[in-house]
Amino acid sequence: MAKLFKKVLVANRGEIAVRIIRALREMAIDAVAIYSEADKSAAHVSLADEAYLVGPAPALESYLCIGKIIQIAKNAHVEAIHPGYGFLSENEDLAEACQKAGIVFIGPQPHLIRLMGDKVTSRETMMKAKVPVVPGSQEPIHSIEQAKKIAKNLEYPILVKASAGGGGKGMRVVKQERDLQKSIDAAERESQSAFGDKRVYIEKYLENPHHVEIQILGDLKGNVIHLFERECSIQRRHQKVIEESPSPFIDDALRKKMCEVAVRAAKTLKYQNAGTFEFLVDQKKKFYFLEMNTRLQVEHPITEMVTGVDMVKEQIRIAAGFPLSYQQKDIHQFGHAFECRIYAEDPLNQFLPCPGKITSYRIAQGPFVRLDSYMEPGCTIPVYYDPLIGKVCVWGPNRREAVLRLKRVLKEFVIHGIRTTLIFHRQVINIPNFVQGKYDTNFIDREFKITKKIPKQPLQDMVLSVAAIDAYKKRKKAITLVQQEYHVSPWLKQARSESMRKFNRGFL
Ligand code: ADP
Repeated sequence: MAKLFKKVLVANRGEIAVRIIRALREMAIDAVAIYSEADKSAAHVSLADEAYLVGPAPALESYLCIGKIIQIAKNAHVEAIHPGYGFLSENEDLAEACQKAGIVFIGPQPHLIRLMGDKVTSRETMMKAKVPVVPGSQEPIHSIEQAKKIAKNLEYPILVKASAGGGGKGMRVVKQERDLQKSIDAAERESQSAFGDKRVYIEKYLENPHHVEIQILGDLKGNVIHLFERECSIQRRHQKVIEESPSPFIDDALRKKMCEVAVRAAKTLKYQNAGTFEFLVDQKKKFYFLEMNTRLQVEHPITEMVTGVDMVKEQIRIAAGFPLSYQQKDIHQFGHAFECRIYAEDPLNQFLPCPGKITSYRIAQGPFVRLDSYMEPGCTIPVYYDPLIGKVCVWGPNRREAVLRLKRVLKEFVIHGIRTTLIFHRQVINIPNFVQGKYDTNFIDREFKITKKIPKQPLQDMVLSVAAIDAYKKRKKAITLVQQEYHVSPWLKQARSESMRKFNRGFL
């Protein structure tokens, strides 16, 4: 007989730690937080029932230290660990260390994390399961002759990709044979420094595809359901920035087929807990497996909004041995949801990270609005971690109403003290093709031109010319607000020094 946990450790920080702690609270489970020296006064620490210092600010000495985390978990007598996303969430060593320590890892089996965490082995696994994969090499590249042969067969353009890749790193588009060698070298170098693994392989570069992913949940009894799709084609540097569900691109027949394939693949793997099958869909609506993420996704809230399923609670219940709370027939897509990822980055300066102190803000709120964030007045967005401050999500009964709500919410939401990507989102969602749902993964490169047009001018003028042009015409009051939003924090001034610039580049 399954029994719910009494105490769970959240091995993460930021908005996702807050999200998980909230689910634990609602399930009457005690939440244990870990924090680095940079996060002493962070929201996830004050919200948890217990919190323990895990180490100094750098992630390698704190949030990535498996040994320290397991020790804290043992000392605090927790029964399970939720890894969130990022950090150790796709590290099979944490899952294995949990097993050894008799602690439940809230995620899939370690061998599946390993298998699906490598693009070459995950492609091979999916091919065996008769899932269509993006055409490409079946093993890492070991010589330039082999690479030339594969690329020629696939026909240029092709994509050189890191086998251990993630976050859009270690990827190079190659349009002609004479650029192949230098692209392989560059991808190998980037992959080695980001993942400590230089293996790269080749995929056909699909022209203007859509990124559509299917969310699945599997329990310990072998039951698997899907929670439909998310369209994630609004990307910058191959990284998602706005997501929506349902996808405006795929039709019901394709949706059904993709969901069936994902469920079948998960069953073949005997997959347990939450997972996402990412696909590329080409202009002819043929879909190809891209990769599987063996964890909770950043964009899970939009799936929660259209299905009504609390995915984090389901993850916890599954890990405790409960069967899925839903059968497939219980799951429906109802209405339409969007998510905008708000980063502490400067859209007016090549999206360089802009950590610092949030002096005040006006929160995104109103009917059918969700803000997942760790923002608090006076809180600091540290320089050490991912610059994601939070996610603004809206729901509407249909896409049109959801877009209108998103526009309203982004207009109202202001953050003072640091620069954020709010300004970017406000502009993207007003581009006519976005409003009509006509976009693919190259949409931002093709249609978001505004930052490129900005002439070099003093900061305040730039802000007025880009962010506040609307407000400028309408109300003086609004201008004051936008000026405040881009008030330069003392930290930011410091970040402008040459040494900090170098540091920021590394951070990107
Ligand atoms: P990562 O794991 O680094 O995020 P993915 O393989 O998930 O890399 O791809 C990220 C994004 O890069 C995709 O959503 C898509 O926009 C682009 N991409 C990846 N592979 C291809 C491809 N073969 N053809 C065209 N675009 C691709």
